[in-house]
Amino acid sequence: MFAFLLVSGCSREQPSVPAATVPASGSASSLDRSLPHFDGQEAFRLLLRQTSFGPRNPNSPGHAGCLEFLTATLGALADRIDLQQFTQQGYGEALNLTNIFARFKPDAPSRILLLTHWDTRPRAEHDQDKSRRDQPILGANDGASGTAVLLQLAALMKRLPPAIGVDLLFVDGEDYGKEGDHDLYLLGARHFASNKPPDYAPRFGILLDMVGDTYLELPREQHSLKYAPDIVDLVWNTARDLGIRQFINEQGEFVIDDHLPLNEAGIKTIDIIDFNYPDPTNRYWHTHDDTPDHCSPESLEAVGTVLTTIVYTQQP
Ligand SMILES: [Zn+2]
Repeated sequence: MFAFLLVSGCSREQPSVPAATVPASGSASSLDRSLPHFDGQEAFRLLLRQTSFGPRNPNSPGHAGCLEFLTATLGALADRIDLQQFTQQGYGEALNLTNIFARFKPDAPSRILLLTHWDTRPRAEHDQDKSRRDQPILGANDGASGTAVLLQLAALMKRLPPAIGVDLLFVDGEDYGKEGDHDLYLLGARHFASNKPPDYAPRFGILLDMVGDTYLELPREQHSLKYAPDIVDLVWNTARDLGIRQFINEQGEFVIDDHLPLNEAGIKTIDIIDFNYPDPTNRYWHTHDDTPDHCSPESLEAVGTVLTTIVYTQQP
């Protein structure tokens, strides 16, 4: 038996880039290359910048403000950004949605895709306070955490271009649907899967969702194991080699998330997600407790360091 779970989960300072690098040790490991340092504190400031807009659910003022911030920030960091704007009928409203596709070395044939959702949930159906369940959540973990990691990675890649092409995709409308209404989840990822550039064929994709939990534990998500076991191994083995303990060698759950439309479109994609936020018996997921004080710079740095290592060790 398995449980299908619905999961999901954006401020104006320029992310700064630390200069520190890890020196090469001289051994044969692929991890010994000089790598830029991923700074969790910088990433956490980017999380806070997003939550400063308030909830970023579609058609809200926070959504509009954060979109402007993301577009300006990524426009200054990436070699190119494409905005995919589309509308979708929601619950009594037409949703104005935007995916942001930020590309580094857009002409490089060898490339990878990293993605996350930047929108936040318009309701808090799991909140203890029934009177607040119809109010939008802040989404510090569910929305801002993955976005913060990819924004900081964009700052690193601006300073030190990787050997391969890298695309960062920030999808909208991941977390809009009511529980059970699968048609109104994953809106941005579905739109991208149907409207991606012609002949777009990255080696693989890696999705980040809910990676900011202070008590971060990342098991191997099971749809990822089904679609792309080699990429799961790449990520978890990289974490092991780096001594990053947040990636644990256990099977997680089957999570319905933005990686599914991409896998169905032929891009093998895994999901890095800690669904137990902070633990299985006490969940901040889809509540008003999804706030920055329940997230940490250390967790963002753990995930960011693994991603940075993968980005800079992939060869054309
Ligand atoms: Zn969510």
